[in-house]
Amino acid sequence: MPDDACERRAVARLSRNVSETLTWSAPRKEFLKGKLSPRLRLRRNGGVKNFLTLAARDSRGSSSVAIGDVRLGEHEDVVLICGPCSVESKGQILSIATIVKESGARILRGGAFKPRTSPYSFQGLREEGLRFLAEARAKTGLPVVTEVMDPRDLTMIEKYADCLQVGTRNMHNFSLLKEVGRSRLPVLLKRGFSATLYDLIMSAEYILNEGNPNVVLCERGIRTFDTAARYTLDLSAVPILKSKTHLPVIVDPTHALGLREFVPQMSLAAVAAGADALMIEVHDSPEQAKSDGNQALTPEIFAGLVPRLRAVAAAIGRTL
Ligand code: PEP
Ligand code: MN
Repeated sequence: MPDDACERRAVARLSRNVSETLTWSAPRKEFLKGKLSPRLRLRRNGGVKNFLTLAARDSRGSSSVAIGDVRLGEHEDVVLICGPCSVESKGQILSIATIVKESGARILRGGAFKPRTSPYSFQGLREEGLRFLAEARAKTGLPVVTEVMDPRDLTMIEKYADCLQVGTRNMHNFSLLKEVGRSRLPVLLKRGFSATLYDLIMSAEYILNEGNPNVVLCERGIRTFDTAARYTLDLSAVPILKSKTHLPVIVDPTHALGLREFVPQMSLAAVAAGADALMIEVHDSPEQAKSDGNQALTPEIFAGLVPRLRAVAAAIGRTL
C-alpha cells in the first residue's frame, strides 16, 4: 500500500441478505475529508461493479412480485399482461379489457401518458385515461399497469394504478427511478433500447436502493444494425438476467417486433426462454388505434395464441 494510502474496513451489503466485511484502500486525504460515502469509496477501489447489488441473485433464489393479486416470478404461473398501447376512450379500454380477460390475460396494460417520438402524435388521455383504466379494473378485476414518464405525475398515477411502468426511454432517468423507488407500488422496468443488461440491472438497483423491493425486469427489444423489425428481441436476456438477479423477468415481444405478423412466434419463444410474463398489445380495431396499431394483435389472433403459449409453458414444466 502506498505511503499516502490507508486501509479501511466496512460492512457492505452485497445483496438482499448477504453482508460482507470489505477492506479497501484509498489516498489518505480522501478518508481524512470524511466526505466520501462507503459506496463512493468502494467505487474508487473498483469494487462497486461486482458488489452492493440488491438485485443480485443469492442463496434465497428468485423473488415473486405481486401486481394487485397476481404474482410474477419463477415459481409462479406465467402471466399474460395485455391491452392496447394507449387508452383511447372509456369504451375502448372496457371492451379490450373484457376481451383479453376472456382469452386468459391476468393483468391489463394501457398507457395514459405516452412517450411518443413526435410531439405531434397522440400523447395520451392523462388522468382521464387513468380513470378509464380504473373503471376497466372494476369491471374485469384485472389489475392495471401503466407508464409513468414524469415524477410530477407519480402521485396521481399511484391513485389509479397497480403497477408503475418505466418505459425504455426512461430506463436511464435516474430521478424517475429514485422516485418510483419510494412508491408503494411495484415497478415494471423496461430495458432501454440501447442499454446493456448491466445497465438494466443497475437501473433496477436505483429503485431497490430507495426501498422498493418489487421490481420486474422487461426485455422489449434493442437497437441493432438490423432494421427488418422495429427492434431486435434479445431473448438471451431472459436466462442471463435470471442467472444474475432474483427479480422476475418478462418479455414484451410487441414493441420489439413492431409487426403483428411476428409477435406470436416470438411470444412462444419468450415462454420457452423462461419469461415469467409476456406483455402483449391487443386492440379490437388496430387500424383505428391512436398508437402502435401495426403491432397490436387482433382479439382473434390473441385468442388463438393463448393455447399455444400454454402448450409451450407445459413443455418447460410451467403453467400459464
Ligand atoms: C409501452 O409499453 O407502451 C411502451 C411505450 O413501451 P416501450 O417503453 O418499451 O417502448
Ligand atoms: Mn405501444
